[in-house]
Amino acid sequence: MKGEIIAVGTELLLGNIVNTNAQYLSQKMADLGIDVFYHVAVGDNMQRLVDTVRTSLNRSDIIITCGGLGPTTDDITKEGVSEALGVKLLPDKASIEKIKEIFKAYERPMTDNNIKQGYIPEGAIVLENNNGTAPGILVEKDDKIAILLPGPPNELYPMFEEKVLPYLKAKVHSTIRSRMLRVVGIGESAAEDMLKEIISSQTNPTIAPYAKDGEVHLRITAKTDNPEEADRLIVQMEQKVRSILGENIYGYDEESLEEVVLRLLQERKMTLSLAESCTGGLIANRLTDIPGASASLMCGIISYSNESKTNILGVKEETIRNYGAVSSQTAEEMAIGAKRVGNTDIGISVTGIAGPDGGSVEKPVGLCYIGISIGDKVKVHRLRFNGNRKRLKWNFSNRALDYLRRELLLL
Ligand code: ATP
Ligand code: MG
Repeated sequence: MKGEIIAVGTELLLGNIVNTNAQYLSQKMADLGIDVFYHVAVGDNMQRLVDTVRTSLNRSDIIITCGGLGPTTDDITKEGVSEALGVKLLPDKASIEKIKEIFKAYERPMTDNNIKQGYIPEGAIVLENNNGTAPGILVEKDDKIAILLPGPPNELYPMFEEKVLPYLKAKVHSTIRSRMLRVVGIGESAAEDMLKEIISSQTNPTIAPYAKDGEVHLRITAKTDNPEEADRLIVQMEQKVRSILGENIYGYDEESLEEVVLRLLQERKMTLSLAESCTGGLIANRLTDIPGASASLMCGIISYSNESKTNILGVKEETIRNYGAVSSQTAEEMAIGAKRVGNTDIGISVTGIAGPDGGSVEKPVGLCYIGISIGDKVKVHRLRFNGNRKRLKWNFSNRALDYLRRELLLL
């Protein structure tokens, strides 16, 4: 089934308000398995509204309008949709009574244009508005469905949930379900290349990669008649993807890398210390954003200067003199030092050049060494990234967390 959302209001076209109703309604339609191919916004103008609704009814099975149901002369949605559908507007006794009651309750005088709100397209279902005066309307005509909802979100949301959702659920029998696989350590094009056969032969479920904050997110979307079948299709596809990407997949949906790392540390009952130079505490910050981090993260040192690397972490002066602060050797000694100072199972270090200055031919901006000391073993990874200072810091922190994650999976 195809759905379309028509937002009515000159306010939207002038940029005075954001069309959040369309976003809300689209999410709801997707959950129901209704394909939304168009969002339309039209001003409070009768001719343009009628034209818009006609066009929409030609290409969609269900149209949902929002806004323009109120009592004022610029509220013309009901009139416009009725005209486009070719149905008459008739006074609805119950609705008029309800409006009269509301005005009585608020002790406000009622004007003729309030009565206008009690006119309903012939054969329509009235959707009671418990949070405002203008009722919503649902009309079925010639295999098409038009649903008219009020503009204010505090009226539209409950009306949709209480009245429209049960109606649409009974009408449509398809479901769209999706799951996000989160991938780190390989770029978007590498991921796409590895998955190219799956991507080119995809039908249902579909699979789409997105690059986000130094990671790749793969969205698997299945569309079927029932949720169980959709979930089954997603699991099948996920297994295929997993057989190709393996441990590059670190999590699902909203799960973050730092959450996964902390979970792995907790499962293994292992503790962690950090020695951060160019990331300036970003790794510690990301980990401490997660509740319960204190069970695993014991200590984070921002050792920015050479002296602090020597004095606090015990990096040898000659190491820095001979190889530089940004070097494999310094990263190694920093990681060992962090582990010792924090008295933990693991020490992680990061030293690199975040720019924009300070780079050289041998050691360009974007170069970074990440040291991992576990037990009596130390590993150092060298990597290079492009980007501005903020991006580089983020990517360094991401990789440090990812290297740690991969080490933990081996334990
Ligand atoms: P009312 O009875 O309040 O006049 P209405 O159904 O006639 O309701 P509009 O007059 O079009 O609706 O809009 C009323 C208010 O609802 C707007 O000022 C705005 O705050 C909100 N609104 C309208 N359309 C949207 C939209 N598409 N997205 C988010 N908010 C909206
Ligand atoms: Mg209005």
